[in-house]
Amino acid sequence: MSSSSDQRPSARGAGERRQPQNGEAVELPRPAGEIADQTTVRRANLGVVLGQVASRGRSSRAAIAAETGLTRSTVSSLVAELMDLGLVRETERTVRPRRVGRPGVDLELSDRAVGVGLEINVEHLAVCVEDMTGSVRHDRVVHVDNRRSAPERVVERLARMAETALAEAADEDLVPVGIGLAVPGLVAVDKGELLIAPNLRWSQIALAEMLVERLPGLPVRVDNESNFAAMAEHWRGSARNLRSFLFVFGEVGVGGGIFVDGEPYRGEHGFGGEVGHMTVAPGGEPCACGSRGCLETVAGQDAIARRAGIPLESQGRVQNVTRELVKRARRGDEATLASLREAGQALGAAVASAINLLDLEAVILGGCFAPLAPWLVEDVRGALQAGVLAGGLAPSAVGTSELGLDAAVRGAAVLPLRELLAAPWMLHELGNGSPQPATFARRG
Ligand SMILES: [Zn+2]
Repeated sequence: MSSSSDQRPSARGAGERRQPQNGEAVELPRPAGEIADQTTVRRANLGVVLGQVASRGRSSRAAIAAETGLTRSTVSSLVAELMDLGLVRETERTVRPRRVGRPGVDLELSDRAVGVGLEINVEHLAVCVEDMTGSVRHDRVVHVDNRRSAPERVVERLARMAETALAEAADEDLVPVGIGLAVPGLVAVDKGELLIAPNLRWSQIALAEMLVERLPGLPVRVDNESNFAAMAEHWRGSARNLRSFLFVFGEVGVGGGIFVDGEPYRGEHGFGGEVGHMTVAPGGEPCACGSRGCLETVAGQDAIARRAGIPLESQGRVQNVTRELVKRARRGDEATLASLREAGQALGAAVASAINLLDLEAVILGGCFAPLAPWLVEDVRGALQAGVLAGGLAPSAVGTSELGLDAAVRGAAVLPLRELLAAPWMLHELGNGSPQPATFARRG
């Protein structure tokens, strides 16, 4: 997998205002506009400097100045503001420049700002608090079947879990900057509304509104679990060095998340990435979506288990079915191996089409596909070799999730951190106790 700068904002092109050169016209000052302009430039530069610290791990003020083209004094003033906001701190280690001068002190990300991730899964509720350095400060999963529960009851239970997490965060002097909520369904991201979640049998639920009422003071973002899982893998998981990839999330069905040029790609209405409903067998088995021959009718875990002869009803939870499949595959059960081969081939065909369409670098297999990967990867690679027009994909182009089943809730915590990285000044508004979700610059 190639290395490249990832989600960090570019350091170039956001430098200070250029001074007029000899012979160039000097604009007459326009005070009001000038002030607005200075604020915009400073805010952009604040993001640039924070991005430098984030992407370099440790960095000195001098190195940031050299990298960004900003003056040393501008960098120092921006760093002071970032330190005031609690986003950056000085490390113990000092750097002695080769030439004469004061020794510099390294800067690193502070671990005070945290994102709060929440997840409503068909079979569990989860909460996760993650800081800017990638450490999980609090996490809790409650196994509960949400299939027959009213949305209000589920949200109330989740809100109580979030309150406990927020209270613990406050005890540790952490600063929550936003809440992400991962759900297994289609989401109108701009309104924070769950449009439909077939496995929960929910539709048209204003989840963001319900949560803001219960947890006032923090912006809430709702998105599909696979989009969040892809974001988590890109932030700290197996896709951290990738710019363009497809994340395929195996569960009862098959979900997907797409990253293009380091940003999530959701499509016109936010419904993109539904890799599970790509047709791989025209006229094949009926799918829950109403179509036939979708990828999830061949490679969804339920389909794999059915062909392997595992009675689904008796197995209960999704992870139990995965464990049973792994057990049978390990002992060489023929029906299970054949079923996994068929799933791998279908998965490979769908991924090859996505790569041909979008010119992606890699595919990451997540959810139940990660533990099943030893029996899937060869067939997926084979299908890519046969089906990707450009060819030449490295073996590492098929990767497996590092974050496993936590990926969705981790991604939900990462979203507010990602946005903070791009717009650190936002913290001033949170500090005033008047969060403005609309100013949470939406990226991607
Ligand atoms: Zn379908």
